[in-house]
Amino acid sequence: MKTFANIIVDISHSKLDKIFQYRIPEDLKDKIEIGMIVSIPFGKRTNNINGYVVGFTDEPDFDVNKIKEIHSLVAMNMTIETHLMNLAIWMKERYACTILSALRTLIPVNKQMNNKTEKQIIRNIDTKQLQGYIKLWDKKKYSGLSRAGNYLLINKSCKQSSILKDVNISTSVLNNLEKKGLIKIISKQVYRNPYNANNIKKTNNKLPNKSQQTVIDRISKNLGNNNEVFLVHGITGSGKTEIYIQIIQKVLDEGKQAIVLIPEISLTPQTVKRFIARFGDKVGVMHSRLSNGERYDAWRMAKEGKISIMIGPRSAVFAPFNNLGIIIIDEEHEMTYKSEISPKYHAKEVAIKRAEMTGATVILGSATPCLESYYLAKKGVYTLLELKEKAATTNELNVEIVDMREELVNGNKSIFSKLLKDEIEKKLDNNEQIILFLNRRGYSRFVSCRQCGHVLKCDNCDIPYTYHAQGNKLICHYCGKTINMVSKCPSCNSKYIKQFGIGTQKVEEYTKKEFPSAKVLRMDLDTTTKKNSYDTILGMFRKGKADILIGTQMIAKGHDFPNVTLVGVLAADLSLYMSDFRASERTFQLLTQVTGRAGRGNLQGTAIIQSYTPEHYSIIKSKEQDYKGFYEAEIKYRHLMNYPPFSNLLTMLLQSTNEKQLIESSYMLKRDLCYILSKVDIEVIGPSPANVSKINNTYRRVILLKGNKYNQLLNFVNKYMERLTGKYKDISIHIDINPLISY
Ligand code: ADP
Ligand code: ZN
Ligand code: ZN
Repeated sequence: MKTFANIIVDISHSKLDKIFQYRIPEDLKDKIEIGMIVSIPFGKRTNNINGYVVGFTDEPDFDVNKIKEIHSLVAMNMTIETHLMNLAIWMKERYACTILSALRTLIPVNKQMNNKTEKQIIRNIDTKQLQGYIKLWDKKKYSGLSRAGNYLLINKSCKQSSILKDVNISTSVLNNLEKKGLIKIISKQVYRNPYNANNIKKTNNKLPNKSQQTVIDRISKNLGNNNEVFLVHGITGSGKTEIYIQIIQKVLDEGKQAIVLIPEISLTPQTVKRFIARFGDKVGVMHSRLSNGERYDAWRMAKEGKISIMIGPRSAVFAPFNNLGIIIIDEEHEMTYKSEISPKYHAKEVAIKRAEMTGATVILGSATPCLESYYLAKKGVYTLLELKEKAATTNELNVEIVDMREELVNGNKSIFSKLLKDEIEKKLDNNEQIILFLNRRGYSRFVSCRQCGHVLKCDNCDIPYTYHAQGNKLICHYCGKTINMVSKCPSCNSKYIKQFGIGTQKVEEYTKKEFPSAKVLRMDLDTTTKKNSYDTILGMFRKGKADILIGTQMIAKGHDFPNVTLVGVLAADLSLYMSDFRASERTFQLLTQVTGRAGRGNLQGTAIIQSYTPEHYSIIKSKEQDYKGFYEAEIKYRHLMNYPPFSNLLTMLLQSTNEKQLIESSYMLKRDLCYILSKVDIEVIGPSPANVSKINNTYRRVILLKGNKYNQLLNFVNKYMERLTGKYKDISIHIDINPLISY
């Protein structure tokens, strides 16, 4: 019996983030379900507010006489599975978020959506009869009728909108046909689905090669038995996607469903088509560019069993399937799998939790797994499976590293080494295309020596100092240590020590000057602010409208340019020495990805990496395509410095428009933290200026907490954060546990 409903009110406030109970009116008792949005009176408010139904109870925990009644149902078509409700509760605990924000991520849109209907034309008479009519219409020169008739000869039924458009007739023609009884016009419920499976040619499974078969067999052995987590490590082109597809087939054969997570930037029509070509209209797609209606319908198709596979970025991990067999996370190392807004969940963690709740299997796939995943795989927490060769033979990739220090010695001060310049000219002569890549991410303002490559680093953190023109200082953005800028290289005494940095705009200028006959396109945040400009630039380049494409990480992945035979990485150091302990990992991933851009067609590809520190293992190992070698070197550094996976971090971002206040409060807060945390073995680091130390007149500083166990940090948040935000009301404090972005 549903007597009372447990409700979370739709007001963002941590004090209200608990269950309230309401009486269910008689007439709603057989309609109300978990997940529905209801309208309720609340407190002394005159207007009703919305709330989410999260459960039912017969015996209330409060005084029955004081319990209010639900007013009405607001959105009744978004009910939530019990296991997803439990997942939301788990998220609240894991990410120290409110249950309300966790619920909001589970629900596709937070209002009642209407189901869409569409008019459908069905021919009522057989071909012979229709041919008779057409003859008659032709004779009388009723050209509209005649066009419609010929269309209906081929299409026994069709969408009204298609026939109107395809043969250019008005609805009156159709009404006329209906009156004559030649067709029926009906209204059909449809799903807003931007992908039409009918236009995509069906393909069959490829015969797996030996390594693919080994991986498929190993995963199949435990499918659905004991929520195992697999890490499939295989270079790009080794046939991972083909494996996913064949595993999904097995999952579907058992009557279960599959979720495939793909980073938004790689979620191109080509990627989606590969799945649709195998599974037809069983595939649904979610991404951020969908309209509310489309998003709601993708969600509804999953819930109503109209589709069995959901492809999408991180939020697709919540697809409302009720018999989930597998969750696949492709390119699992991508940082976009972690949400940047509350709840700051990581889709990988949510996937593993959801699999645990439902008995599903998880596959993580990558050419460059994130350190944490590979570490867990080596420890046996995940099952490591490897693919060592390309599935389809392609051309060997030729990677060259250029030592820019030697260029300087030889008197070349340009941004192009001699080798890169020569190669560009060769490719231009051959009418082949070139990508020039500037791997800057955010703000790298490190100081380095052009003579010997030495980079100035903080000796506490082994993180490069950031140059601050104001006061001519070097500041460590981890611990805040500040020193004066140097005038000579501490390592070789050279004067050529200065801030490192170049932007894409400058690169474009130099390129045009150096290669005046080449057509050059540039792609970065500045040139892609307009909607679609991203696709436009890539489309132009693919069509051969330019010879050289200059870009940042935006061009590193997901795109196949068959005519590109040369990729130049202008300054690998830019990402290598940003102030982030993951800099080496990101550089290795980026270089592996970007060098893979060259030679994807039938032509031999060359990649040239320019660097002032070419002896760094990130660069050497990416040339050798040696992930394991990279891992071994990097994990030693992480261990030595006690960075993840050996520790867990919590970033506290402190913000205020009043800089003096911010600095004062940040030191006071640090004192409080040191006092609170001294007993629980959590290290307090900072405060230091944030990487972006000022946005829109708001100043930003960071305090970092480092603990061995995730739960230590979580306990601290649950126990103290409310009190601390209360005490430091004048500044805003945001927390992020194990952040992947640098603040
Ligand atoms: P990944 O996902 O690891 O990058 P894909 O699955 O996309 O690799 O495979 C790379 C290319 O090799 C694709 O063009 C795919 O069609 C082809 N391919 C994969 N497996 C096979 C196979 N067993 N036989 C023939 N071609 C294959
Ligand atoms: Zn030097
Ligand atoms: Zn430091």
